Amino acid sequence: MFRYFFLVLAILGCMGFLSPAACSAADSEKIRYTSAMGRKYVYLRDVARYYNMRYYVWNDRVVLYNNDFKLTFFPQKKYALVNNIKLGLLFASYSSGPNSFISDKDFLLTIDPLIRANAMPQHRLKLIMIDPGHGGKDNGGKFRYREKDIALRIANQLSNMLRKKGFTVAMTRTSDQFIELTQRSKLCRDIGADMFISIHCNSASNPEVSGIETFCLAPFGTSSTNSTSGFVAEHREDGNRYDPNNMGLAYEIHKSLITRTKTIDRGIKRARFMVLKNAPCPAVLIETGFLSNKTEEMQMGSDWYQNLIAQSIADGVMNYSRDVSRK
Ligand SMILES: [Zn+2]
Repeated sequence: MFRYFFLVLAILGCMGFLSPAACSAADSEKIRYTSAMGRKYVYLRDVARYYNMRYYVWNDRVVLYNNDFKLTFFPQKKYALVNNIKLGLLFASYSSGPNSFISDKDFLLTIDPLIRANAMPQHRLKLIMIDPGHGGKDNGGKFRYREKDIALRIANQLSNMLRKKGFTVAMTRTSDQFIELTQRSKLCRDIGADMFISIHCNSASNPEVSGIETFCLAPFGTSSTNSTSGFVAEHREDGNRYDPNNMGLAYEIHKSLITRTKTIDRGIKRARFMVLKNAPCPAVLIETGFLSNKTEEMQMGSDWYQNLIAQSIADGVMNYSRDVSRK
């Protein structure tokens, strides 16, 4: 199914349409392209029309909305809001005269998987691999609590919840055990998992920093959201076969986490973490909070908050499942 999807995408691309997944040639004619900074951009006004959304400009913002979605873009900024959930863009949006633009890659791989979630490639979703980060000699972040311990506790709770919902669940580790990053992806591939969820805790030198961020793999030709070097990977990784689904999954999980925990929203971001690059299925990595922040650390060490995080992730998986497993 995935292979078929990219074949269709390649054909449309060759024909010069570069349209979102599964849209017809007639639809794609509604979208005009322009070039800037060496890449392709689309008119946000056309994107609004394409999704039957209203369009208005308010102060520094460009807003597209309908009954279900409100998209807010901030020209020159590398993020947007989708129903008030923060979403990292691959490239900053920009304005020129009366027009505003986003990159065609953001239209195709950041926005479209959210707005037309049920147009994402369908796939089997039965076996889920949960990956508690770190373990054994690798503590991860070490403060009052150790990252490896919190990650395992959240993963255990999530595993139980997903099993109750009818999924088969495997874990890369079930004890305080060191596992190489490459081994984690290999385990996932060996069992034929349909989804990979990696659980981590964050830390920062500034103890004020807090909140949740959810990562999926950066598409080829783009840099990681947090990259300071601007390094752009020009080749496709294994995990890039699932770009639209990676984003759809990250959105559902992140939305659920932010809505339920009401914590600081640090956004959905792209990265080139090893476990995301090598994933043989749609994959996300969740930074569930900062152990370096005293308040958040206290929460994260408690059963109720670990339970809340696990429940939020499970709800996100269920929502994603409805988008990709409909019959
Ligand atoms: Zn970690």
